[in-house]
Order: sequence, then structure tokens, then C-alpha cells
Amino acid sequence: MAENFDVVVIGAGPAGYHAAIRAAQLGLKVACIDAALGKDGKPALGGTCLRVGCIPSKALLDSSRQFHNLQHLFGEHGISAKDAKIDVKTMVGRKDKIVKQFTGGIAMLFKANKVTPFYGFGTLHPNRVVKVKQHDGTEVELQGKHVILAAGSDSIELPFARFDGKHVVDNVGALDFEEVPKRLGVIGAGVIGLELGSVWKRLGSEVTILEAMPDFLAAADAEVARTALKEFKKQGLDIKLGAKVSKAEVKKNEVHLTYNDGKADHSLVVDKLLVAVGRKAASKGLLAEGTGVKLNERGQIEVDEHCATGVEGVWAVGDCVRGPMLAHKGFEEGIAVAELIAGLPGHVNFDTIPWVIYTEPEIAWVGKTEKQLKDEGIPFKTGSFPFAAVGRAVAMAEPAGFVKVIAHEETDRILGMHLVGVNVSELVHEGVLAMEFHGSAEDLARICHAHPTLSEAIHDAAMAVDKRAIHKAN
Ligand code: FAD
Ligand code: NAD
Repeated sequence: MAENFDVVVIGAGPAGYHAAIRAAQLGLKVACIDAALGKDGKPALGGTCLRVGCIPSKALLDSSRQFHNLQHLFGEHGISAKDAKIDVKTMVGRKDKIVKQFTGGIAMLFKANKVTPFYGFGTLHPNRVVKVKQHDGTEVELQGKHVILAAGSDSIELPFARFDGKHVVDNVGALDFEEVPKRLGVIGAGVIGLELGSVWKRLGSEVTILEAMPDFLAAADAEVARTALKEFKKQGLDIKLGAKVSKAEVKKNEVHLTYNDGKADHSLVVDKLLVAVGRKAASKGLLAEGTGVKLNERGQIEVDEHCATGVEGVWAVGDCVRGPMLAHKGFEEGIAVAELIAGLPGHVNFDTIPWVIYTEPEIAWVGKTEKQLKDEGIPFKTGSFPFAAVGRAVAMAEPAGFVKVIAHEETDRILGMHLVGVNVSELVHEGVLAMEFHGSAEDLARICHAHPTLSEAIHDAAMAVDKRAIHKAN
């Protein structure tokens, strides 16, 4: 006999656990299924984000940043420490503790909100029946009035560089190296390649990043990308653009790579290889025959703007559907679908989803780039302001980067904000808020910003849109 629920969620990552908790808050009877196990072999909720993504990567970025600053930045403050060392085991252990705290936190939140967890692999069958193969080998059957598919994503593997967990790894392996690799190769100068490449570079690896595309961070504002690339190169990250890898062979504890830069073949020998060329929807085994749920050519579950699959009562959210693969995009979709199921309005504004890359300097943006606006024929004006002219940034010895505000040429409405510099992961939300409230550059320019703060860069950039920045020549 199937157990009945109002809502059955498959996947307890950011999208799934938000959907489950919000649905339970709204008085619905909810089950949430997740197959993942933690490093200790026990069930671990929270998905890629909490186990092997956002949180562990930021833990290592922070540890490595402290180590790097101790060696390279503190001197400027008159602080010196001789023979700084990094104990990788302690650093990774700290990361593991944080992961455990947060994955365990989701289990506690489920308990507090009366969400019933099932630990095992869930498959959707016709008529919203979900069969769960539990870790103890037993199977349970759940009947949902609604089913939310939140299966997330997996790393894309290259046919010539299969993951072996030892020499050729994805994010999972690169978050768990037992020592600093002397030479680290990275395929893909995207978000993971840059963040995890930075971690190991700061700890002493020679890092070479091979990127197939000729442009660096093509999705970002071109000036932001140029500034970031210059800073990364200064830090010693060797980023080779237009580099197409054709071979990666493991020989005698080394990985031998062959790549072509458009001019000639080159070889590169590294101790570890991180492959970070994107992620794909995790739809394998999720759907039994005859559910009616469709996948697109990229293997993503097809949904409309409300995350409905077209099959009555079946929804899909997060990385397994279209749109950016970001935890906070999944959060919002999970909440929106739970609210729609409960008969409330639910909506995600794709125009104001912020992007952040947690490198040094950080990169962040919201809204459109100049290139997108040009392509769309939308008239615009821009104002930018460098952190080198912001007292607080200079006092922090963090003068790199700038803020750019883009506003509509005629209406002055803010269309985008692009930032590169210290703590811009936090600052970008002023742009998000302004855009959500349909604000103009004039609005931002007239808002009193505390002095001295990094946010003054936004204030002056907004004033620069009308060529009236105070702290620079316009
Ligand atoms: P997931 O987090 O992938 O969760 C899906 C869950 O469903 C998993 O636990 C999986 O085991 C489970 N599952 C799948 N199929 C089944 C099934 N059939 N039965 C039972 N369980 C199933 N995003 C950010 O916004 N900020 C960041 O800083 C950031 N950093 C990242 C760093 C790295 C290294 C990586 C890899 C990703 C990062 N991301 C970041 C992306 C972010 O992790 C994802 O966008 C987010 O986790 C997607 O959430 P989700 O709920 O859709 O899927
Ligand atoms: P990505 O899409 O960010 O970058 C992949 C890069 O690999 C691209 O630049 C692409 O041109 C390049 N590439 C693809 N095939 C290649 C090949 N054969 N040879 C060389 N280069 C190749 O993907 P990712 O870095 O793997 O990250 C996956 C997703 O995870 C991201 O899209 C992002 O949504 C999410 N993520 C987000 C954050 C964050 O928000 N800070 C951090 C990590 C991951």
C-alpha cells in the first residue's frame, strides 16, 4: 500500500528542501527523498550545494585566502609571520565539519517542520506514484497529490578524461585533496575552475587552466572579465584561452595532457587534473516509463515559466530544469512551486538573479551586460567607479576593481550592475534590490551611503551615470 502525501519531493538539495519546508509551512503533508550519502557513509541532506558545492568550496576559499593574505597582504600592514604553513588535513577537516553541521541542519529543519525524509533513490511512476529504493534494500511506495522533481545536476565528464577520483577529478575530488598538488591542471575557466583553481594556487600549486573558448568569462561584463583576468594572472594563475584539450593520460602518477591553442599542439604534465566543463541535469533513473514528463535535448526536465512539467501535479525545480545552475535560483523556484501548490501566487524573477564568483577579487553582477543591451538594441548609459578611489577599500589594502551601473538612456531605470573587487558578493544586492523596486540610477545617487564603506563605490558609480561623480573626474 502506498503512503499518501500532499507533496512528494525528489531531491533534498537547495531547490528540493526549500520546496519541502515551504509546503509544510503551508500546512501540506510532505515527504522528501534523497539518495546522497556523506563522507561518513550516512545520509546527508542538502544536495550538491551543502555536500560538495557552495559551502565546502567557500570554506576552502576562506582558509586559503587567510593563508595567502598572511603571506602576501599582511606585510603591507606591518604584520609578519615567519614560516607560515598550511596543514591540508586540518583545513579539509574544518570544511567537513561545516558540511556536517549544515547537512545535519536540514534534517533538523525537516523534523521541526514535519517533513518526512526518505533516504534512498526515488523514481517517478505514472499517476504521481514514487517508488523509493532505500539504502537498507527495502522499497517504499509513496502517492503524491503533487510531485516536485528536484534531482539537481552532475558534473559533465569528458570522454578522454574520465574521473578516477585520484588523478582526474571533478569538484568532489578537488575539495578533498590530501596534500597540495605540486602541479594542478584545470580544464574549463568557468566558475568551478576559477574558484577551486584559486584555492590550490593560494596554497602553493602551480595551476594551469585550459579554456576552450577564446573569450574569458564570456557571460560577464567584458570590462569586469578583463580586470579579473589581469588580477588572476598577477596571482600566478596560468590561464590559457582557446586551448582545446584532446588527450589526458595517466602515466606513473602524472596526468599527461595534449592541447591545441589554434597554432600548434602542446603538452602539459600535471599531478592532478580537475575537469570543470559544466554540469548536466541529473535525470538518470528518475522517470519510469509512461510518466509523460519530457526531457529536452540537454537532458533537462521540460517546464513552463511556473516550473510545471505539463503532467498534472508534476513540477520540476533547480538545476534539473532550464536557467542558471545556482543554489539561490533553486531556492526561489522551490518556494514558488510550494506556494503555487497551496493556491498562492508564486513567481521567480529571472531578471534579478545575482551571479557571484568567489575569487579574489570577487566578481558579481545582476541584470544585463552592455553587450546584451547592444544586441537587443536597448539604449543605455553607464557610470563606473574604481575601488582605488574608495577610502575604505584602500584602508583595507584591497583597491582592485570597480563598480559599473548601467541605466536606460531615456528612463534612467537600472538595467544592470557589474562589480569586481573586495566583498562584491555582498554589495551586488544593492543592485538586486534597486532593480526589484524598478529603481533608477538617480534613486541610487540620492540615497545616503555611510562613509567610509565599500558601498560608496556604488553611490559614485550611480552618480557617474549622469557624469556627476564627486570623487573622480567625469
Ligand atoms: P542539487 O543540489 O544537485 O541536489 C539534488 C539532490 O537530489 C542531491 O542530493 C541528489 O543526491 C538528490 N537526487 C537526485 N536524484 C535523485 C533521485 N532519483 N532520488 C533521490 N535523490 C535524488 N551555486 C551558488 O549559487 N553559489 C555557489 O557558490 C555555488 N558554488 C558551487 C560550487 C561547486 C563546486 C558546485 C559543484 C556547485 C556550486 N553551485 C553554487 C551550484 C549549486 O550547488 C547548485 O546550483 C545547487 O546545488 C542546485 O540545487 P538543486 O537542489 O537543484 O540540486
Ligand atoms: P561553467 O559553465 O561555469 O564553466 C565551464 C567552462 O568550461 C566554460 O568556460 C567552458 O567554455 C569551458 N569548457 C567546456 N568544455 C571545455 C573543453 N572541452 N575544454 C576546455 N574548456 C571547456 O561550469 P563549471 O565551472 O563546471 O560550473 C558548473 C555550474 O556550477 C556553473 O554553471 C554554475 O552555475 C555552478 N557554480 C556556481 C558557482 C557560484 O555561483 N559561485 C560556483 C561553482 C559552480
